[in-house]
Amino acid sequence: MPLLLLGGTAEARRLAGRLAGRDDLKLTLSLAGRTENPVPQPVPVRTGGFGGVEGLAQFLRDHAIGAVIDATHPYAAVISRNAATACAAVGVPLLALRRAPWARQAGDLWRDVADVPAAVEALGEAPRRVFLALGRNEVRAFAAAPQHSYVIRSVDPVVPPLAVPDAAYVVARGPFAEDDERALLGGHGIEIIVAKNSGGAATYAKMAAARALGIEVLLLRRPDMPEVEAVESLDEAVAWVERVMAERS
Ligand code: NAP
Repeated sequence: MPLLLLGGTAEARRLAGRLAGRDDLKLTLSLAGRTENPVPQPVPVRTGGFGGVEGLAQFLRDHAIGAVIDATHPYAAVISRNAATACAAVGVPLLALRRAPWARQAGDLWRDVADVPAAVEALGEAPRRVFLALGRNEVRAFAAAPQHSYVIRSVDPVVPPLAVPDAAYVVARGPFAEDDERALLGGHGIEIIVAKNSGGAATYAKMAAARALGIEVLLLRRPDMPEVEAVESLDEAVAWVERVMAERS
């Protein structure tokens, strides 16, 4: 059965590893092509947008896709909605593999904000030392608040740099360790973090470090996701694939 796995996350890579090498599956992992040096994947990869709902529906028909697993990031809402619409239109079973959001713990100084512009606003007028753990395109909006000092971490370099007088850049890909996050946040005297509630273990260390250091975190609200069958674990996703294949035969 040809199976399309929408990826760009560590979970998608791990699921691909679990499903690789089976002779009853022909797996294709799809990446948007955002990162300059994507990590190697254990299955064949196609890269780039499909061209909206229509393009994705056409891809499903052209490749006789028997099932789709949406294992994209919890903030990648457009592709998730497109997958729901295209799969419904073509009649292809769809499963979402979704990470649960992190839950607030005692000592967390979290403040929810609607989106990136709201986060810029919430930093306030007085200069602060800010750590941005966002995508390199999302950080652009912070040029509107040049009074703050920024430490910006991204997978690829921010080019051109942010148009503010004081910004330092860290190019790094998770997973991150709590000790390293404490050293980074403490070393830069960070007072506030802007981040996504991504869930999962790979990027949680900054949240634990923030709690330990008493640093406030502005958390971007998760976008609404389409109502489709969803699971949280790789085991459940593998079981779903088995079920879909059994129903076809
Ligand atoms: P998005 O806003 O939901 O999608 C924008 C467009 O990018 C989609 O309409 C689609 O183009 C294309 N696209 C997205 N994911 C794709 C995939 N897996 N395969 C093929 N095309 C894809 O997505 P995003 O937030 O920019 O995220 C892009 C990628 O980065 C995703 O793979 C996501 O898992 C990963 N990622 C995102 C975040 C985040 O914070 N958003 C963090 C880590 C990783 P067409 O309409 O042309 O098909």
